[in-house]
Amino acid sequence: MIVTAQKVGENSVEVVLPKKTAQELDIREGLELYAHYDNGSILFSRTKESPYKVKVREGTSPRITIPKEINTLLNIEPGYFLEVVKLDDGFKLIPREEITLEEFLEHLDKVFREVYEFMKKDLMVKLPDDIKVAAWPVVEKKYRPRPTVLAIAEPHSKTIAFRYTRPSLIDFIHELIHLAGGDEVYAADISPIILFAFKNRNKIKTPIDIMKIFDAFTLEDLNKIVQKYGLKDIKDYYRVSGVVPYLYDPNYNRLPEYTEKDEVFAFILEVSAGAPYGYIHEKLMIDVLNELAERTGNAPSESERK
Ligand SMILES: [Zn+2]
Repeated sequence: MIVTAQKVGENSVEVVLPKKTAQELDIREGLELYAHYDNGSILFSRTKESPYKVKVREGTSPRITIPKEINTLLNIEPGYFLEVVKLDDGFKLIPREEITLEEFLEHLDKVFREVYEFMKKDLMVKLPDDIKVAAWPVVEKKYRPRPTVLAIAEPHSKTIAFRYTRPSLIDFIHELIHLAGGDEVYAADISPIILFAFKNRNKIKTPIDIMKIFDAFTLEDLNKIVQKYGLKDIKDYYRVSGVVPYLYDPNYNRLPEYTEKDEVFAFILEVSAGAPYGYIHEKLMIDVLNELAERTGNAPSESERK
């Protein structure tokens, strides 16, 4: 079981044990535990040998404050992962700089595992098997990311890391896309589409090779999709929506610096941006995904052919 340290006050950190873990460890309200430094880990026991007395506070998820002396000795910082190991007379917390994705998924709500499985199986995203999740304080020391950076992916070492130990689903998807070889633009544009596909998974055909979404269609293919809704073509769709995308002049003529491929890309992004909110956008996005499933679902992908 993996837990994380949280900062409370200036010098102390505390660990919140999930209810289930607390039951397994027989930690009840009012119980007194004694903390020892134990060769690189913190040992919590019921024996009265240690000067560090720790009281479990009331509440359904017990919070255990790590004594300052031990914290200084181990230098545990908020955002570090701690492995909980059950012992006969208590338990041990072992600091970990890095955990496996499997351990991370155990630590998160089950929807994260569902999204991960969906990306791999239904959306054919080629993710490495041995993904690691690094503790954020370790990442901060190594890369010194700006305060606005919420997550980092390091494809070479197959490692991802999050500033907050419970990331948003979109950040989680975004970093996984980097591990599948997606660049910054790709990761930013495709992660909302993946989240939409996951939320509408009962309405779409799978498998879909989602990474091909921007390459699989011609303008004519997209025109055929909007024609199902009584529109002439995608320009007609923009006119009705009152939108003039960046790549057209006010009369919907494509500006010379853009190509048909850019037009396809812009249209899919436009539909994707509105899909979580609007009726026609949502339907169009589902149509695009289903059409993509027809085209890519059973065909071998580019990299497999090579
Ligand atoms: Zn990114």
